[in-house]
Amino acid sequence: IIQMSGVTKWYGDVQVLKDINFTVARGERVVICGPSGSGKSTMIRCINRLEEHRDGRIMVNGVELDHSTRNVDVVRRDVGMVFQQFNLFPHLTVLQNLTIAPRKIRGATRQEADEVARYFLERVRISEQADKYPSQLSGGQQQRVAIARALCMKPQIMLFDEPTSALDPEMIQEVLDVMVGLAREGMTMVCVTHEMGFARTVADRVVFMDAGRIIEEGAPVDFFSDPKQDRTRAFLKQIM
Ligand code: ATP
Ligand code: MG
Repeated sequence: IIQMSGVTKWYGDVQVLKDINFTVARGERVVICGPSGSGKSTMIRCINRLEEHRDGRIMVNGVELDHSTRNVDVVRRDVGMVFQQFNLFPHLTVLQNLTIAPRKIRGATRQEADEVARYFLERVRISEQADKYPSQLSGGQQQRVAIARALCMKPQIMLFDEPTSALDPEMIQEVLDVMVGLAREGMTMVCVTHEMGFARTVADRVVFMDAGRIIEEGAPVDFFSDPKQDRTRAFLKQIM
């Protein structure tokens, strides 16, 4: 469902992605880890063209991300994204945060959008907060709203960029639980995270990046017990 081949990305004359070859099958769960600045965010942001790559090709759900803005719109409709900082609309209520994109982009009626929104708020166990504003919620609740908001667009793929790293420790698990639930239902997921317990539980594959390259990838059981590369070993030693 995602194919990146020979992808590079530059900021000015600094190269931050180097020959990225990365594929994700439908229904697969992939965890991406690696040191700060290794290009993890940049790589997943290329998948919905929040960043533009330079060389190579990126195909998402059969559509090539090139200079066609129409293709970009098509891909963004299929790809949901959850950020470290939630990025909710502060001036909208929880319910309005969930219904705005389905109404404006998918052309849903208010009633349809409300119904779908209430379903997903239930799913992330936050129905009773529907009429609050984001600032009235805890970080964990805000992140669950952000996940529900992405799901309201009925995405085929969910991208997560360190969704728990801005949260207080006691709120991390409630967000991870929602993500585990999604994984169990067969959602295609690409998650940048250092939550290695999550990786062990749900990932089909763990990818390690360093200095703009994919250094190593494998099934969690091999990746954690028998990493092949020195850099991977050094990284794992640091975070576990
Ligand atoms: P972290 O774990 O800290 O989130 P990361 O692996 O997600 O790191 P990226 O954010 O993808 O790393 O950044 C990769 C490199 O690109 C870094 O060297 C960073 O400084 C650089 N970079 C990121 N965004 C920009 C930008 N908008 N302009 C210039 N350089 C950038
Ligand atoms: Mg990042």
